[in-house]
Amino acid sequence: MKMVEKMVEFKPEKMIKEFEEISKNAGKIQEETLKKILEENRESEYLKEVGLNGRTDAQSFKQCVPLVTHKDLEPYIQRIMDGDSSPILTRNPIPTFSLSSGTTQGKRKFIPFNDELFENTMQIQLTSFAYRNREYPVEKAGKALVFLYSSKQFITKGGLPAGTATTNVFRHRNYKELMKGLQFRSCSPEEVICGPDFHEALYCHLLCALLYHNEVQFISSTFAHSIVQGFQTFELIWEDLCTDIRFGILNERVTDPSIRAAISKILSPNPTLADIIHDKCSGLSKWYGLIPELFPNAKYVYGIMTGAMEPYVKQLRKYAGWLPLICGDYGSSEGWVAANVNPSLPPESATFAVLPDIGYFEFIPLDDVTKQSEPKPLGLIEVKIGETYEIVITTFGGLYRYRLGDAVKVMGFHNSTPELKFVCRQNLMLSINIDKNTEKDLQLSVEEASKILVAEKIELIDFTSNVELSKQPGHYVIFWELSSEPDGNVLQECCNCLDRSFLDAGYVSSRKVGMIGPLELRIVRKGTFYKVMSYCLNMGNTLNQFKTPRFIGSNNKVLSIVSSNVANCYFSTAY
Ligand code: AMP
Repeated sequence: MKMVEKMVEFKPEKMIKEFEEISKNAGKIQEETLKKILEENRESEYLKEVGLNGRTDAQSFKQCVPLVTHKDLEPYIQRIMDGDSSPILTRNPIPTFSLSSGTTQGKRKFIPFNDELFENTMQIQLTSFAYRNREYPVEKAGKALVFLYSSKQFITKGGLPAGTATTNVFRHRNYKELMKGLQFRSCSPEEVICGPDFHEALYCHLLCALLYHNEVQFISSTFAHSIVQGFQTFELIWEDLCTDIRFGILNERVTDPSIRAAISKILSPNPTLADIIHDKCSGLSKWYGLIPELFPNAKYVYGIMTGAMEPYVKQLRKYAGWLPLICGDYGSSEGWVAANVNPSLPPESATFAVLPDIGYFEFIPLDDVTKQSEPKPLGLIEVKIGETYEIVITTFGGLYRYRLGDAVKVMGFHNSTPELKFVCRQNLMLSINIDKNTEKDLQLSVEEASKILVAEKIELIDFTSNVELSKQPGHYVIFWELSSEPDGNVLQECCNCLDRSFLDAGYVSSRKVGMIGPLELRIVRKGTFYKVMSYCLNMGNTLNQFKTPRFIGSNNKVLSIVSSNVANCYFSTAY
């Protein structure tokens, strides 16, 4: 059945039944999906060039088509962007481009986006919503506080629109029609979602949610960071929001005329509501349980909370109080991969079941990745429980055997399709000598050291890292922003703990022999990471996609923001 029909008469039980069926035949469905992709695009220049000659079986596909990264496809993508509408990667011309966030890899990537990818997005969202709704039903036609920001699309040299994947989905001609079938509506009018300035949009998202506070069924965003960011802002501006509600007049900080006009339709003086919100906020200790306090009928908080978002879970729990935190699905601008069909699992143990009909998936054993030899990826149903793999995708959007750069661990199977845990992005970050530390290693080390802060009742707000090579030997630098600053001895202890917690053998041995200098912890002033985020958003990122860069590297502007805000620094005495 076409997605349009599915959504208009959305039946969660039917959706679950369908996924149960396809996940029982994951191997066969994968073969069919590959065949469909290859048949559809057999006339494309790329598939002809690699010599596939119309064959659609997995064996020929693997023999002919090389494993690639984005860099390998850039010349093809560039031609499409510049206006060449011949069948380059796909038979039908690519109508739009998605921009990956690039906050984790430094450089933003352009990725083809077409109707099939739009349908895949809808399919995965409906699938996980169906499972979520079975466990935590929301009221039909209820509302949701969705921190959604649709950035402007810009036009490539060849005249094609390009925007974030979220924007492309939101602006797709079928989106609104399809969303009608779902059981909830965003509290915010479209003008807010499409607002050109994220500060104004965020203010209005919060205001609209307060106006409908009894109807809000859940709180969500693509990445959990936006939810934390939203409520951190609430802590600062809640009195202004109360004033707006009391007098029915929107604060002057919101200047966009279309937003002002849209809000004026729903905002009228309501001193009773203003008093209720004022009392609730004044009665809370350190904002614990703010979400259920403000939105008494909310059932859960939903968004991606794994991987780079894990460090925000603690702050999210503070705001969510007793409400369950449910993890968002797994995918990327390149294409979706897997849905959360076990919504009751906490973020720390969340897994994602691969949808075998939205793409063709291969898995490179992690051992193969590190070896020099040609990696030999396994098929979807060949993976082993407990093993970690780098994921390779073939999509309906013209990417063939594309290395996504993510490492995932197989935790089990949902029928015959694997359930994956997101491990980390594969790209190496911290490295000076023979040491190799990934984003995950950094995260673990920061997690360990920040335990020391718990006793001090201090929160780690955000962090990033860099390598300092201007003096020999080079050393790691970790930047921390804290909710308040503890005693210097405590931070010295944190610094030592950070250093000790990088367990990679290359790091430990280099530290012991002095080939790497003592780790440095730099404490930055409050608001520094807000400045980093604002800078990234000004560079064209949207809040939906934003992930704090965990490694600064050659990003000079981010380096200058954090460096000019350093309040104190400590050098490790751990070795
Ligand atoms: P982007 O294409 O810029 O939106 O970022 C996609 C990347 O975000 C993926 O390649 C993953 O590294 C990360 N990501 C997406 N979904 C999840 C998830 N559920 N858990 C952890 N990381 C995720």
